[in-house]
Amino acid sequence: MSETVQNDAEVLKLRAEQADFFSDREGDCPYVVRRDGKELGRDGENPGPHVVLGVGVHGDEQACVEAVIRIIQAIDNGDLRLLEGSVSAILGNPEAFRLGQRSIDTDAGRCFYKGVSTDIVEGRRAVEIMQYIESIRNELALIMDGHTLSTNDIMMLVFNRENPANEKLLEQMPKVFHMLWGYIRAHLKGAFNDLATAYGVPGYAVECGQHDSPLAVDRALFSMKCALDAGGVRYEGEFPWFNPAVTQESLFCRNLATDQCITPRAGFEYTIPDIGNGVRIDAGRVYAKAGTRRYVAGKSRVLTMAYQGGIPPGATDAGFLCRELEKRGEFFGGGESDLDQAVA
Ligand SMILES: [Zn+2]
Repeated sequence: MSETVQNDAEVLKLRAEQADFFSDREGDCPYVVRRDGKELGRDGENPGPHVVLGVGVHGDEQACVEAVIRIIQAIDNGDLRLLEGSVSAILGNPEAFRLGQRSIDTDAGRCFYKGVSTDIVEGRRAVEIMQYIESIRNELALIMDGHTLSTNDIMMLVFNRENPANEKLLEQMPKVFHMLWGYIRAHLKGAFNDLATAYGVPGYAVECGQHDSPLAVDRALFSMKCALDAGGVRYEGEFPWFNPAVTQESLFCRNLATDQCITPRAGFEYTIPDIGNGVRIDAGRVYAKAGTRRYVAGKSRVLTMAYQGGIPPGATDAGFLCRELEKRGEFFGGGESDLDQAVA
């Protein structure tokens, strides 16, 4: 699926209700915030660690939105009680989400940087969210950014490997992932989760499988529980139910580090079958074309974050070419990337 425009009336109604769930709770800021009954920072009180759960940065990805609503509802009805700390749930791109579109003007997942244009929908939203994150900076403990994929149904942890706080995070997270994907900012400027880097706290995205995977919501729920745990938020009571299958350790986990962003020129299309996360491309192989231009892998690489069936409008990259690392530890420390511009 490429640009998934769901115009089925029932689906749009559900999306509107879910978007309203967030907008109905807009108070001083356009986000759901739940904490242990204390006002933020009131009277110098330490409100405890604050975990931010971002969802719907891509408007066509519904599973994480559903998962975070279940968590907030569990807090609302008392099934889940926060003992220490706060949780914010942020709907990243409400306008696109209501329409069932990935984006309105551009990829919201590349808009979180200083100086982003506020002439575009996603830029304005990113500025609002960045101002909000700044307002909670003293308690910010962790940012998780929930996504799903158009390609293979795997669970992937996506993180800036230049953020030292993510090294500890990788040790803390349960080994449920099929793929760890470390990027550098030069390749993924404006990722929502990368806001954490400037505040010295962990930030990462979780890909919870394919958009319509029967496991996606459960994976999202479990990922959010892990985010609360890693961020130090304490809670008691019933965490919203999730399928225990998604908590099982993965028997394998590939470590991929970005080497090159694949820039989609006009008419871009992949020419290899079965594109998706983890597909190997041998050195010298043509893997895509754009008009008469051919994209050739300069070195043997592994493809990540490619879109199945074409590149959505507004996409600033068509995927990434990565090195496969033997050990997790290799993600950190170096940080340098050999940007082999392998476009022939
Ligand atoms: Zn996404």
